[in-house]
Order: sequence, then structure tokens, then C-alpha cells
Amino acid sequence: MVSEAEALPRTMRAAVLERAGERLRIETIPVPVPRAGEVLLRVEACGVCHTDLHVIRGEVAFPTPAVVGHEVSGTVVQVGPGVDSVAVGQAVVSPFIMPCGTCWACRQGRDDLCERFFQLNRLRGTLYDGETRLHRADGSPLAMYSMGGMAEYCVVPATSVFPLPSAVPLADSAILGCAVFTAYGAVRRAGDVRPGARVAVVAVGGVGSTVVQLARMLGALEVIAVDVREEKLAAARRLGATDVVNSAQEDPVRAVRERTGGRGVDVAFEVLGRPETFAQALGMVRDGGTLVAVGIAPGDASAPVPITHVVRRGIRIVGSFGARAGADMPTIVDLTAAQRIRPSEIITERVRLEDVPEAYERLARGQIVGRAVAVMRP
Ligand SMILES: [Zn+2]
Ligand SMILES: [Zn+2]
Repeated sequence: MVSEAEALPRTMRAAVLERAGERLRIETIPVPVPRAGEVLLRVEACGVCHTDLHVIRGEVAFPTPAVVGHEVSGTVVQVGPGVDSVAVGQAVVSPFIMPCGTCWACRQGRDDLCERFFQLNRLRGTLYDGETRLHRADGSPLAMYSMGGMAEYCVVPATSVFPLPSAVPLADSAILGCAVFTAYGAVRRAGDVRPGARVAVVAVGGVGSTVVQLARMLGALEVIAVDVREEKLAAARRLGATDVVNSAQEDPVRAVRERTGGRGVDVAFEVLGRPETFAQALGMVRDGGTLVAVGIAPGDASAPVPITHVVRRGIRIVGSFGARAGADMPTIVDLTAAQRIRPSEIITERVRLEDVPEAYERLARGQIVGRAVAVMRP
């Protein structure tokens, strides 16, 4: 039994990756149907994120054909059996980690490490019964990267939909689901940024620029943005960076150390996922400080770590994939309603679904300054 308040179309448009290395194609496919414990969203907007790009390029292994897109806002248009946490008509946002709620990690309160999410969604492109909800008209399956949100509709487990108050702009709130969710986990959880902290952010694209805004919100005294592009550094300043370093023009480690009296920063965030920037961020950390690794790298990438330096200087290296959906998303929504988190300042472009293949190509060329979102019905 599903309940619905409006007549739904039978088909929808979605951004499909046929094979890694190819260009996305906008296809018309059947609208998916939610099963027990799931809801169907009419997608308002979906962010154009670098992690999708890794999948598109085949740098992160993922089954194909697939529908990408993993940070969405939208309206609940149908609920599956057993869902009583949200109702049809509710505006919601969904984080890209969709916790199962029952595995060991979820029971420990670490739903950012949900075992079934990684096993079934990230490795197989399905939901928790081992099947995808997305198919072509001929019945052949399409893998779901998270909810497969780069589409006009998507199915999301009810554990991953969080109501948005009406005062919060619905389309711009899409980026709460990945850029803000990822940054919040890094800044609040892994980095534990405190009032008065000095931090560096290496690479200030969509997630990195959000790290800048959140670090300032949590009271960081100095936030040094590091990037190779002047326009990204200028945008980071507008979001609250107190200083910037163009790493194409000067040695970023020396520059950050100079700007912190030679000592280094309390927390350095590496948001790109490259061996050289990982090493740079590590070199910026003060004795007893923390490197938070946020950037996703190609699957086989590794970075050298100077063992004795890390041991003798008491340096912590912490990975951070996302925030904790159940505990953190309500807080993220509240902070957004209070305008402490301002997604509209981070979003730099709004594109149509048909322009999404081109938007990922521009993202690959470093031509998107902050975050682009696809608005499904502009
Ligand atoms: Zn993302
Ligand atoms: Zn779980």
C-alpha cells in the first residue's frame, strides 16, 4: 500500500552514465516506486559534486549503467509501507550517506560508517534489499549512486529524509546533503574546531568553501584558504577566509607556517584527495594538531607520511567521509534555518538537467568556482 497525493507521471528524465569514461546522457526512464521504509521524492535540485565525477571517470569503481547524483532536496510525493516519519507534501533534504539504521556501525551511533550502505549502495548500486529501484523501460537495471538523485524523481530510505522548514529555500538546500554534510562532519566531528582555532583549508571548491564557512561559524579565529585559482580564493574570502594562499605562486606549507608565526595550524583540511596536497596539508599542521582528510582520491592513490614527524610531533591524521545523518542533519537544518549556514552563498551556478553532462565537464576542468546545482524545474 502506498499513499499518494498527486497523480505521478510514468516516466522521468535522469542523468545516466552508460559506462565509466563516457559522457552522461539525459534519458527518459520509468519513475521508481518506493518499497517498505522508503519514500519517493520529486527532486527540486541536485548538486553537481566531484564524487560523481570520480565515478564518471572510473576513478572510483561503481557498477554501470548508473544514475549519478547524491545531494538532493525535494518534496515527498509518495511513501512506502511503514513510513510514518514524513508525509506526502513535506519538503525534505537527503544526505548522501543513507544509513540502514540496523548494522553494527549504525547501532554504535556511527551511521557515517554504515556497513550496509558501503556494501550494498557504494559497491553494488542498490538499496538494502540488494536491488535497485531504477530501471530502463525494458526492465534492465540502472545502479543508484546513493539515491540516483540527478533525476526528476528518486527513491530514498526514510532514514535519510529530513524535513525542511518552509523558510529555507528548497532548491539551494540540496547542497546540505553533501557539500554541507561532508564539511560539517569534517569541521565539527573529525576536526573538532573550537573557538579561537587556526585552520587551513587546502582546495576550496564546493566542499572546501563550505569548510571555510563552517569553521568560521564554529569560532575559528584564522581560516587560511589554499588553492591554485584566484577566483576560488576570492570566493573563499567572501565566505570568511581570513587569509589566502595561491599554491601555484608560493610554497603553500611555508606560506601557511609564516602566517601562523611559524607554528602551523591547529587543523588542516585536505579537500582535494591528491598525494601532493595531502602531504602539503600534513606539513601545515602544528605539533599536536590534526590533519583531516576529506578529499576522495582515485581508488589506488596513496600519500607518503613521515613516520617520525607524526610520532614525535603527536600529530593526528583523521579521515572524514561525512557527518552522522541521524545526529547531525537536524542540526544542519536548524543552523540553515537560523542562517548560520548559508547554502545560497556557496552555490555559484544553477543549471538545468539537460545541461548537467556539460556541467560535469566544466567541473572536471576546474571551471566551477563553488558549487553548481541542477534545478529540475527552473
Ligand atoms: Zn558529493
Ligand atoms: Zn547501517
